[in-house]
Amino acid sequence: MKKKIILTGDRPTGKLHVGHYVGSLRRRVELQNSGEFDKIYIMIADAQALTDNADNPQKVRENIIEVALDYLSCGLDPEKSNLFIQSQVPQLTELSFYYMNLVTVSRLQRNPTVKAEIQLRNFEASIPVGFFTYPISQASDITAFKATVVPVGEDQMPMLEQTKEIVHKFNSVYGETLVEPEILLPENSACLRLPGIDGKAKMSKSLNNCIYLSDTAEDVKKKVMSMFTDPNHLRVEDPGKVEGNPVFIYLDAFSRKEHFQEFLPEYENLEELKAHYARGGLGDVKVKKFLNNVLQAELEPIRARRNEWEKDIPAVFEILKKGSQVAREAAEQTLEEVKAAMKINYFEDDALIAAQAKKYAK
Ligand code: ATP
Ligand code: MG
Repeated sequence: MKKKIILTGDRPTGKLHVGHYVGSLRRRVELQNSGEFDKIYIMIADAQALTDNADNPQKVRENIIEVALDYLSCGLDPEKSNLFIQSQVPQLTELSFYYMNLVTVSRLQRNPTVKAEIQLRNFEASIPVGFFTYPISQASDITAFKATVVPVGEDQMPMLEQTKEIVHKFNSVYGETLVEPEILLPENSACLRLPGIDGKAKMSKSLNNCIYLSDTAEDVKKKVMSMFTDPNHLRVEDPGKVEGNPVFIYLDAFSRKEHFQEFLPEYENLEELKAHYARGGLGDVKVKKFLNNVLQAELEPIRARRNEWEKDIPAVFEILKKGSQVAREAAEQTLEEVKAAMKINYFEDDALIAAQAKKYAK
């Protein structure tokens, strides 16, 4: 039977935030604990982070440990999930070099995520080649581990499309070698792309609009109380807008029925709370206080686990070192298959040497 393998990861450009949590991390931990997967690879994408942070290697370096601590504190278990660092697996770079021959410049230019990110980073006038081609390197990351499932947020859809195209192209030119991956998006639509506390479309490290998993309880509260809501909901008695209102989107992403019993028993569930807000008579402060309670309940155990791991940083680096070794071995296997398919395995191919010898035999 075909193996079930997961590959996913994050860029070490900052600490992880609650958008990462609902978009991908929470799901990863569930998948890990389901026991349904043969292998789970979780990658800290430092080489990718350098494609738009080439002049700031210190930032990338310092955030390796932050991302690793966030992983462990969310419940990723190094016994079950292989945590590794992208740059420590040179086979990935080698694969990218060969995949580049299978992708056109115009195809990369059409990638909507790359387009949006170029704009966000003011790269329009001058795009680093490495950044422009990072979807190809993502295809290498995914295919190197023969991943079948890639649990990520919605912004990664174009990357998975691009990867599938590379897989098809490679297999049709060189013969069946690479495995086609499937994207696994969050089921809850609020989690596809969690907005920032400022109401911007995406909570993102680069936009400074995040609630971080490692924020203190006071920081979380401050951020929640300062959140953007419906700008026309000025007085308590005014009807409020629920759609597109970040506070309600966060409640969609985080709140469960039990939270109502515990923190807001006068409402049965989120539907009732939304209905009251929409007809007027419910103030933002009350909703925000509830959201704060919900978030604290979810984040408190994460914070506690982080505290424990922070006491043993060398052990965390050791986990990443061992994980990178395991990842190298897996990627090497795929690279050998790729090189054989591409006919560049000269020294492993006795038939080639024999045939050439015969050709020149006098
Ligand atoms: P950067 O700004 O450096 O790109 P980022 O915040 O976008 O950082 P990434 O490391 O690029 O984070 O993304 C890691 C994973 O988290 C991806 O699977 C991505 O889809 C998911 N993700 C990131 N932001 C969100 C969000 N706001 N909502 C849901 N998922 C998200
Ligand atoms: Mg991103």
